[in-house]
Amino acid sequence: MSSIKKRKPIRMCLSCRQRAVKKTLVRLQQNENEIVSYQGIGRSFYICHECINNEKKIKGLTKRFKQDKERFIKFLKELVKNG
Ligand SMILES: [Zn+2]
Repeated sequence: MSSIKKRKPIRMCLSCRQRAVKKTLVRLQQNENEIVSYQGIGRSFYICHECINNEKKIKGLTKRFKQDKERFIKFLKELVKNG
């Protein structure tokens, strides 16, 4: 019985492509042109905390999603702060 392990859901970070336990990742989605927290519907993706704290990676994401850099960085930092 004890050999049956509960598998934790694993997801991949969009930025570094590392796989990690879902709850350690931030789930986001694109809402029109803006990247926001996942709203429960639609396509979503994950970003790991390491990437959020990596300026180079954030810069890449900002370009990739054509985000306003200042808003996007502030938004991500808030997400990490709130866990
Ligand atoms: Zn990552």
